[in-house]
Amino acid sequence: MHTRIETIDPACPDLRVISEAGRILREGGLVAFPTETVYGLGGDALNPEASDKIYGAKGRPSDNPLIVHIADREALGGIVREIPPKALALADAFWPGPLTMIFGKNGRVPLNTTGGLDTVAVRMPSHPAARELIRRSTGYIAAPSANVSGRPSPTKAIHVIEDLRGRVEMILDGGPVGIGLESTIVDFSERIPTVLRPGYISVEMLEEVIGTARVDRGLMAEDSSARPKAPGMKYRHYAPRAELVIVEGEESRVVEAVNGWIQEKESRNMHCGVIATDETAPLYRVGAVVSMGPRGDEEELARHLFDVLRRFDSMDVACIYSESFYTPRMGQAIMNRLLKAAGHRVVQV
Ligand code: AMP
Ligand code: MG
Repeated sequence: MHTRIETIDPACPDLRVISEAGRILREGGLVAFPTETVYGLGGDALNPEASDKIYGAKGRPSDNPLIVHIADREALGGIVREIPPKALALADAFWPGPLTMIFGKNGRVPLNTTGGLDTVAVRMPSHPAARELIRRSTGYIAAPSANVSGRPSPTKAIHVIEDLRGRVEMILDGGPVGIGLESTIVDFSERIPTVLRPGYISVEMLEEVIGTARVDRGLMAEDSSARPKAPGMKYRHYAPRAELVIVEGEESRVVEAVNGWIQEKESRNMHCGVIATDETAPLYRVGAVVSMGPRGDEEELARHLFDVLRRFDSMDVACIYSESFYTPRMGQAIMNRLLKAAGHRVVQV
């Protein structure tokens, strides 16, 4: 398949291009597009064949449901059975934005879109191009992250091109995204609203609006006895090709340990990478050192994570050591992705 790649101004996209993309979606084709979180791989959420195509293009397991993207609040009522009052409160506070909520679905949403579930995940993005595209589609775009299943999510158009060129009709290049981690997912099926995937919006921010919320027990855990409620969270994800190990401990000990390990590996002709911060990068004497940004700026750390993971794929490294990033607000979201990328390999020093 030929993939058209169109560059757009993210704040003020060319409406002729967006209309053309909307037409492709209405006709059952696939368009990858920027959102404020990561790039999405869009298809018409109400068309079962379009959903099947999304799974095919990504190589995504068919039990891993898709998030439906809407452009205005009225659209929500068109696909769900009911809207819990707490969901309305969260929509008031955080939509449009990086929050996904799970609702009971009505008959308009095909099971192909929801991975066979009776529920549907819905988000209203704030990105102007995404919103314009939704309006010019059927109003409902199913869009998982626009990466091949298992790879780090795309935060730049080049990541999408690497993974999906030849598998989708069009890629809209709106430049690097603003947040860089996928949306926070909240489920209301139990008494206490539950975060199924941490993101830019933290549990504390949710609690300010709706009182108590909790985090799904299966989220940060490695063992499958605490099975995550979002089916997708059980799959290996975000993985760079090289083996990734997270090294935890006091900063100077982490630096010393990593320098020692890499020196030893280099003596056997194995090259290694390091995921560091602006502050620690100069302290690593060996290896391919990549900084996530200043440790004090967690939004920048989050924005760079997936790009940093992908960057190692084009380097000849056999292993990657990463510092940990338990920052105050987004630390849980960053570490959830990093732990998955590392297959939960963590060494304490
Ligand atoms: P992605 O589309 O790559 O951002 O992944 C979507 C995430 O949302 C996956 O982890 C899914 O398992 C989760 N998800 C989507 N729909 C539902 C649903 N109805 N119930 C629970 N989790 C869902
Ligand atoms: Mg994904």
